[in-house]
Amino acid sequence: MTTTLITGANKGIGRETARRLVAAGHTVYVGARDAERGRRAAEELGARFVQLDVTDDATVDAAVKAVEADGGLDVLINNAGIETRVENNAVPTAETVTADQMRHTFETNVFGVVRVTHAFLPLLQRSAAPVVVNVSSGLASLTNLSDPDHPAHFYPGIAYPTSKTAVNMLTVQYAKAFPAMRINAVEPGFTKTDLNGNTGTQTVEQAAEIIVRMAQIGPDGPTGGYFDINGRLPW
Ligand code: NDP
Repeated sequence: MTTTLITGANKGIGRETARRLVAAGHTVYVGARDAERGRRAAEELGARFVQLDVTDDATVDAAVKAVEADGGLDVLINNAGIETRVENNAVPTAETVTADQMRHTFETNVFGVVRVTHAFLPLLQRSAAPVVVNVSSGLASLTNLSDPDHPAHFYPGIAYPTSKTAVNMLTVQYAKAFPAMRINAVEPGFTKTDLNGNTGTQTVEQAAEIIVRMAQIGPDGPTGGYFDINGRLPW
């Protein structure tokens, strides 16, 4: 039996990933910072609930104890993420961004990944086949950004893409440090969720596909990579 924790799984891509992995036979923990919404999602999906705010050490430590008491963890999906918005729902640009906006974004998207990964490492290291999936973005790619024809080139924001580029680097560094684990970053694609005011062009079902696939890779699967549904992406 594979036990999987998904952060930020009360809605959006994380929720759909939870639904799919429950159907695939995983014991799934819906991680959510809001207990009521998280518990409701878990009940609807046939999953377990664990309260977890990725910006808060105390909730993450309590989540580790709860998951450990129930038997441990095999798969960690670092999905919780935010896209910081300012006045008129705009994203901070290179001209407007402040250190506080960067810090706010990184607190969830980067330090949250580190906080949760660090806390769950001992449990993952006890698993026979540990897997980590970091939900990144196509906007993280330096190659895409520097291609004037790529959609990533036209994205005006600066906080979100830099945070996801950091997630990619974390993925490579963790993979190098922990060769017994499969640790990969994934780009789910531009998806209709609350994160982007539901302006995305694809469904959560499409987005969850690559996350589910990478959550299920075996010990001989790739590690330290960056993937979308069509294969490897350029860094
Ligand atoms: P949603 O806004 O629908 O969901 C985000 C989830 O993250 C929510 O459950 C939210 O909880 C949770 N979350 C945010 N902050 C925290 C926190 N501090 N602690 C715990 N949970 C938190 O967005 P998506 O489903 O679109 O995003 C999921 C992931 O996919 C993100 O990492 C995002 O960057 C990434 N992604 C999304 C794309 C898209 O087009 N949608 C494209 C590429 C990547 P709450 O409900 O409490 O706010």
